[in-house]
Amino acid sequence: MDLAPGYFRHLRIERLQRRSAGQPGVLTLSGGLPAPETFPVRSLGRSLTGLGRDALQYDWPEGRSGLREWVARHLRQRDVKVEHDEVLITSGAQQALDIALQVSTEPGSSIGVPEACYPLALALFRARGMSPESKLVDEATEYTMPAVENPTGCALDPAERVRLLARQRLILEDDAYGDLRFGRQHPPLHASAPDRVFLIGTFSKTLCPGLRVGWLVAPPRFRELARRAKQLSDLQANTFAQGIVERYLAAEDFEERLVWLRTFYERRATALVDALRKRVPYLRFREPEGGFSLWASLEESGEDTELLATALRHGVSLDPGSDFRSTPGSRGLCFRLTFSSLPPRQMDEAVKRLARALAEHRKSARERASAKAPVSP
Ligand code: PMP
Repeated sequence: MDLAPGYFRHLRIERLQRRSAGQPGVLTLSGGLPAPETFPVRSLGRSLTGLGRDALQYDWPEGRSGLREWVARHLRQRDVKVEHDEVLITSGAQQALDIALQVSTEPGSSIGVPEACYPLALALFRARGMSPESKLVDEATEYTMPAVENPTGCALDPAERVRLLARQRLILEDDAYGDLRFGRQHPPLHASAPDRVFLIGTFSKTLCPGLRVGWLVAPPRFRELARRAKQLSDLQANTFAQGIVERYLAAEDFEERLVWLRTFYERRATALVDALRKRVPYLRFREPEGGFSLWASLEESGEDTELLATALRHGVSLDPGSDFRSTPGSRGLCFRLTFSSLPPRQMDEAVKRLARALAEHRKSARERASAKAPVSP
């Protein structure tokens, strides 16, 4: 496995982020994590105490049947025609994506990705020898997050949705945030093209990521290959975690939880958007429609790792945009701002600090530009 060219820049970013994580005083607008206060610790604890020995035993690679039935029922509510035996339980959406990739693509080929893309999908594609392209490549499989994109927090543009379906190519549909749209729910692309779409989902965003339980619905011709790839990778998803989730879902009203979660995260998104409009009116971004983050850009170009260092000095964190790009661009300075981690009452203070960091960054960018400008004779 080769380390891709952007990896060393990523390591620099990671080093800064690790240093700032948990540092008292730094307000976090980075990371894209679910809010830990939403984790249903007590109910999960209750689900754990009733587990039988089967939850400690090996199992078949496809996963526990009760859990597969629940996932199929849940997806049918969003117009996906799926039966429980078509669902493969995985170790999170990340493994589902890896399996879909392994069974459907060839190393050395291109894969279509959004212009701003979930970094660990980009890194995975590169690690598996593929070349992610945000420009249209004729034969390429497409990776997409139609319901809610990470990092933008927005749905795929409707025209783009139509174009994707019309192309008749394989599609890896990452629906990790599909249940966390604030407004109207969209049927996944899988509902329109089940023979070409791999549908990827997870409990990481709506329950908790630590249990590592997700799913994959592969098109029929890839289903057995996917099951085999899962078995060769780790035999089965963690049976203990699957058992906990299965019992939790049997005991709780998950739809009610989803309504509550959407309101919870929408309040945080609104707090961030309001504070940005008030304190950094020159910042460009689209209002998020779901998920945990938004995507912001400045007209000025510059080094985004430097911007992160400046932000941390001012007591706030953000995610530099270069990690989200398939190719380094000169389209101004971009970064992801996470709203999921901060309570609304702290958002204004976080954005106040961000505004100071951006002002400092823009000032030094202007100074650098004028120092470079030719001196008139
Ligand atoms: N897809 C997207 C778009 C994500 O943001 C993430 C997590 N950040 C994943 C997949 C991986 O999720 P999981 O924890 O279920 O592996």
